[in-house]
Amino acid sequence: MGSLKLITIQGIPVRVHITFPLVLLWAAVQFGRGQTHVGQGALFGVVVTLLLFLCVVLHELAHSLLAIQFGGRVIEITLLPLGGVAQMERLPERPYQELLMALAGPVTSGVIGVGLALLTVFLFPLRIWTDFLRSLSSSGPLSWSYLLPYLAITNLFLAGFNLLPAFPMDGGRVLRAILATVMPYGRATALAVRVGQALAWMLGLLGLLSRDVLLILVALFVYSGATQEGHLVQLRTALAGLRVRQVYSHSPQVVHPEDPLGHAADLMLEGFQSDFPVCEEGRVVGMLTRTGVLRGLKEHGPQIAIRQVMEPEFLVVGPDDDLFDVQQRISESGAEAVPVVDGGIFLGLLTRQDLEEAYRLVTAYPALLPRRR
Ligand SMILES: [Zn+2]
Repeated sequence: MGSLKLITIQGIPVRVHITFPLVLLWAAVQFGRGQTHVGQGALFGVVVTLLLFLCVVLHELAHSLLAIQFGGRVIEITLLPLGGVAQMERLPERPYQELLMALAGPVTSGVIGVGLALLTVFLFPLRIWTDFLRSLSSSGPLSWSYLLPYLAITNLFLAGFNLLPAFPMDGGRVLRAILATVMPYGRATALAVRVGQALAWMLGLLGLLSRDVLLILVALFVYSGATQEGHLVQLRTALAGLRVRQVYSHSPQVVHPEDPLGHAADLMLEGFQSDFPVCEEGRVVGMLTRTGVLRGLKEHGPQIAIRQVMEPEFLVVGPDDDLFDVQQRISESGAEAVPVVDGGIFLGLLTRQDLEEAYRLVTAYPALLPRRR
């Protein structure tokens, strides 16, 4: 959501968040400020930021390709103002796989950094490093020859920062993978999350004391990332081994594509169901969502056939699908309910409410829903 697709590499769409131009603007202002040729400085800032993000894409690709190697699935890579995120489904389960996958990114950044540093030493006199650092700290005149040392240093920084042993940094995953060899996965995660939150507090405090807005932003990013990872693992631990067939609704209200929309509106008013599978001869041909009903009523009135306003493309799950996987897919798709289908035959409906109910039940009384592995 809120992002544009740039390119697809190895089947992985690389997207850029709509706030990304703001970073370019920030870079232009930051580098242009105090320069004799403001335009030149601004251009340097934009070019260096674009190149830096190219390096970030390589970092995320390294994680992603290794994840695919281990049987994971990468949905997309998104470039955010503060870096990149590779969104994955089915992460590798074995600790050593997670360890290698987590290390792949920082190692890539480190290799790029060292490579560019060597190239700088090879191409320019050594004094370019001191000149470059001086120009950064006192916004002295910039030169295009600073491009290489700048990228070298930021890539090395990227490698180092990401190796901090705290969630959501790659180092947090490394820490968890190591901890997970001696304790249960959930405990290992909880510990790595705590470390991440503590680090975020320290960064935030440092940011406040030095009045560094960027540092405060990074602290917030780290804190929310760590917390999110904690929730995700709680959810995964709770839902692990549960199947769709244990929690879905077997007898939801269904509608026919030729029914008038008013019929669905009546069903919505009568019961608690707000999303309807549209079925024809035992097969689901569409989903009628609450928004679809409301918009249809407003634009066409209650007489229009449901076929005209239903969603013909929708997510489908099977009765033996893993509940955590399904939960992830549903929350990514934004759907409120998905039809459960086996061999093309419609079985029932799985709603977000069903998932929440299952989560509450297993956390309160695990024996209620037996797990299978
Ligand atoms: Zn990474």
